[in-house]
Amino acid sequence: MSESKINSVAVLCSGGDSPGMNCAIRSVVRTAIGKGLEVYGIQRGYAGLLEGNVKEMDVSSVGNILQHGGTILQTSRCPEFHDSEIRKEAAHILKRKGIDALIVIGGNGSFNGAWQLHQEHGVVVAGIPGTIDNDIEGTDYSIGFNTAVQTAVEAVDKIRDTAHSHDRTFIVEVMGRKSPAIALHVGLCTGAENIILPTKEDIDFDQIASDIKRGIKRGKGSSIIIAAEGEKEGLSHRVRDELLNTHGIDSRVCILGHIQRGGNPTAHDRFLASQMGFIAVEAIYNGKEAIVTAQRNGQILDVPFEECLGKKFETDPKFVDIVKSLSI
Ligand code: ADP
Repeated sequence: MSESKINSVAVLCSGGDSPGMNCAIRSVVRTAIGKGLEVYGIQRGYAGLLEGNVKEMDVSSVGNILQHGGTILQTSRCPEFHDSEIRKEAAHILKRKGIDALIVIGGNGSFNGAWQLHQEHGVVVAGIPGTIDNDIEGTDYSIGFNTAVQTAVEAVDKIRDTAHSHDRTFIVEVMGRKSPAIALHVGLCTGAENIILPTKEDIDFDQIASDIKRGIKRGKGSSIIIAAEGEKEGLSHRVRDELLNTHGIDSRVCILGHIQRGGNPTAHDRFLASQMGFIAVEAIYNGKEAIVTAQRNGQILDVPFEECLGKKFETDPKFVDIVKSLSI
């Protein structure tokens, strides 16, 4: 028995996976065991919880995983969880299995599910931000974002090699349906000539074309346009067609897609995930009932859950200005 009111804790991953989730799971499991708690892993998120897919974990169940992308617990989307009767069932399952607290690694949607479990049924919950989109309010960074940016940057560097060899313009589509974060960071890190954000209803094709033509005039070998995927598929194809048909600029499209979700987490994401897992367990062990581990001003803190339920949509104009200033 531990000194805490909490004797057992379960951990799950929910929503989109992100590199570094394994590192967070390892940290949760080992911290909890170190404190004398029983630890359970729930397979495939809320769907797995509803199926009772819950297994006790020990120190060696998280051995040799921290460097791997994906999640050993797997993840899922579970639309049924929007239904309060289904959440009631989930709370009963936790109770029946003798689980005192639930740690959820995921994004906004997953956090909303956990928050409702807490509000409606008093389940002790901790959220660990895990999403490549970095769009969770209340934390500067989420686990996986840095790796996704690094993966995209390495890909764009390769594309730049061939673009330069052929004096070509490339439109590279990165992930971020509603979040501009990956596009902004990748654009800045790769010396992109333009960034198209998912916020942009009206894309200024004239401006993009004139930037490309100005570059060609001064002897630039290549141009890269980074486009966030946005809600509707095929944005980058639209940009290519418009540049060709209206401005006579030939370009190639490269959609990076799911490679941005996979791969070994960067040191930055491992650093973040290892701390967040530890702090999540510490907080609930010490009696906090609903917290999220958040990075603020370089510190990892446990903050009230309700501060992290919204989606942040950062389009710091400073980034766009810097990209513009550096790509003249
Ligand atoms: P993410 O957590 O990455 O934002 P989703 O938005 O797809 O991913 O949410 C993951 C899961 O969290 C959903 O499939 C659902 O099970 C649960 N969820 C999302 N939003 C809510 C909500 N408002 N209430 C209850 N559960 C939710």
